[in-house]
Amino acid sequence: MPHPARLAALQAIQQREPMPCEPTPPLESIWASDVFTLQRMKNALPKEAYKAVRRVIRDGGKLDLDVADVVAQAMKDWALARGAHYYAHVFYPLTNSTAEKHDGFISPQGDGEAIHEFSGKLLVQGEPDGSSFPNGGIRSTFEARGYTAWDITSPAYLMRTPNGVTLCIPTVFVSWTGEALDKKTPLLRSNAAMNRQAQRLLRLLGNQDVAPVNSSCGAEQEYFLVDSQFATLRPDLQLAGRTLFGAASPKGQQFDDHYFGAIPERVQVFMQDVEQQLYRLGIPAKTRHNEVAPGQFEIAPVHEAANVATDHQQLIMTVLKSTAKRHGFTCLLHEKPFAGINGSGKHVNWSVGNSTQGNLLDPGHTPHDNLQFLLFCAAVIRGVHRYGALLRAVVATAGNDHRLGANEAPPAIISVYLGQQLEQVFQQIQRGEVTASSSGGLMQLGVDTLPEFPKDAGDRNRTSPFAFTGNRFEFRAVGSGQSVAGPLVAMNTVLADSLEWISDRLESEMAAGQTLEQASAGVLKQVVDLHGVAIFGGDGYSDAWHREATEQRGLENLKNTAEALPVLRRDDVRDLFQRQGVINPVELESRYEVYGEQYVLAIEVEARVALSMVRTQISPAVQKQISCMARSLQQQLSLDLQPDRRNLQRMAALQKRMDEQTDALEGELQQLHHGDTAASMNHCAAVILPRLLQLREAVDSLESLSDDDRWPLPSYREMLFMR
Ligand code: ADP
Ligand code: MG
Repeated sequence: MPHPARLAALQAIQQREPMPCEPTPPLESIWASDVFTLQRMKNALPKEAYKAVRRVIRDGGKLDLDVADVVAQAMKDWALARGAHYYAHVFYPLTNSTAEKHDGFISPQGDGEAIHEFSGKLLVQGEPDGSSFPNGGIRSTFEARGYTAWDITSPAYLMRTPNGVTLCIPTVFVSWTGEALDKKTPLLRSNAAMNRQAQRLLRLLGNQDVAPVNSSCGAEQEYFLVDSQFATLRPDLQLAGRTLFGAASPKGQQFDDHYFGAIPERVQVFMQDVEQQLYRLGIPAKTRHNEVAPGQFEIAPVHEAANVATDHQQLIMTVLKSTAKRHGFTCLLHEKPFAGINGSGKHVNWSVGNSTQGNLLDPGHTPHDNLQFLLFCAAVIRGVHRYGALLRAVVATAGNDHRLGANEAPPAIISVYLGQQLEQVFQQIQRGEVTASSSGGLMQLGVDTLPEFPKDAGDRNRTSPFAFTGNRFEFRAVGSGQSVAGPLVAMNTVLADSLEWISDRLESEMAAGQTLEQASAGVLKQVVDLHGVAIFGGDGYSDAWHREATEQRGLENLKNTAEALPVLRRDDVRDLFQRQGVINPVELESRYEVYGEQYVLAIEVEARVALSMVRTQISPAVQKQISCMARSLQQQLSLDLQPDRRNLQRMAALQKRMDEQTDALEGELQQLHHGDTAASMNHCAAVILPRLLQLREAVDSLESLSDDDRWPLPSYREMLFMR
């Protein structure tokens, strides 16, 4: 018989009525129905105003206040007609979360009346204050407010909750001096930087008509669902997002029977609910399936412009969580909710392109297209090698540290996988077998056009952190709970830097008399010579690779956040962001501080939760069990039986170890805030986390020896297999 609290949870789960499954309405009737789309703007706005909006979306810049007034009016009418009485500037602080400040449309008129009002000024700029958001020292709380400003490239939408409807306006969040306090501002800037350099190279390659280049992102989101009856009995899941204790279930993921298996009925109803909400928000949810671990699932939308995809990604996380609650689940977005089984990541599929040249990472069908493709691809390879440590730093969080390098996710060593064929092409280039010929094709690759690279899943190397997958790169090291903005900023910026490097060389070689083809062949060879060591097609999990990567190839293995975040303070990284106009040194330093602080806080909370669970739940249970066993032993002795003392002895020894580890952890926690951010991070990585793990080992052993009716915490078996 399980512990009463667990028993009550089990009974509640068994008696639960399934959520009624609403029939899915026709897609046409719900698709983007809650979005103030361009089409809706076109219908609602005078022609000139609409044109002005289109112009700002395409070329950037500010909307005139009179135009903003007209847009605001139209937006308000549309929202009011759908039941919204509030609007919110939505922004994305450095915490990976989504923040919103709600304001009513109401405006009292003094004579006992009130009207709905929404001006252009209120649309384009808000002042949420938000002085409590971490800003890494950019502003002291007493001196300055933060401002939000409408990001016109991401459409406004309606958020529906049981409490009503709110008009949501995606915004950037900046300080009064213009410094970015959020994740959106650098993303927009990185896109602009990439666009500048991509356009330059495209023109050098002889393209006359070059439309603005944008980056695209399709993010695959993994998550766990646990019944909320269980989750509420686990303080660790509630406060830390992951289990800090828990003996392994006798059955885990070893049968691979969950992966791509039939989706459990209750989960499927949940997924449909999520998808319908996403469709209303104009988010193209496309793929859903079970993931590797029991209780783990994935949702992936079709890729969109990176900026919009990033906002949509945040919404997906919000909708997953709120919908799970209604279905009696808790949705875990933590990277490693359960030890011993797979954690969750977020594969970020990324490409760059425009309306005139198409996807620039697609090989194409003519030698010219191929040359263009090879140069863009080479730019990515150079970026991954030159700034591999930065790519590692932007996925560094306390949660993700449990995945990276743990043989279930890509290693912390950043290399790039090209696939056999493309890798061979670059080898040919390096051997000088690819030369420019003035007569025939642009390049001699044995064939005039590159083969089509396989895009199917079967051929992929799942152990690579950064893989070419036919027409895009897939950054697999991103954590499931992270905003995708940081990784996209890094990819766009290193690409911009490499494109600039390539264009500089092409220009000077051509000025010295080389043809475009000769100069290109030379630059491509140079990239492979200098940066080809980052190309790796083998098993990224193997020890042999770890040795080869670090000892022979000179690639860095930054094992945890404490090692990875200081990369943001390196000179070359600071120069990179400044040169490309993406993040200035003050902003960069503030990011280091904020992310470092987040890491330390996350681990501090984990340690405090663990201590409190041991003291208030686990230790009392163990105590009672031991007393009971001791009593029974006494009785048996008094009856002259020959009792077996081993279990009691084992438990007593484990209890002692648990008590020692608890005290030790508590002591170490007191040493935590005695230095700067770097010192605190190191203390967490080198001392607190190992202590936490040792404490866990004792507790988990106790769990596996304890009577079922005494153990207060839902077990791994219950949480992972009961639904
Ligand atoms: P897999 O699990 O095989 O990697 P999924 O279908 O789950 O594939 O997800 C692939 C993601 O990549 C989708 O979001 C898809 O829209 C996105 N994607 C496809 N082509 C591109 C592209 N050119 N640029 C960016 N993302 C892309
Ligand atoms: Mg997938």
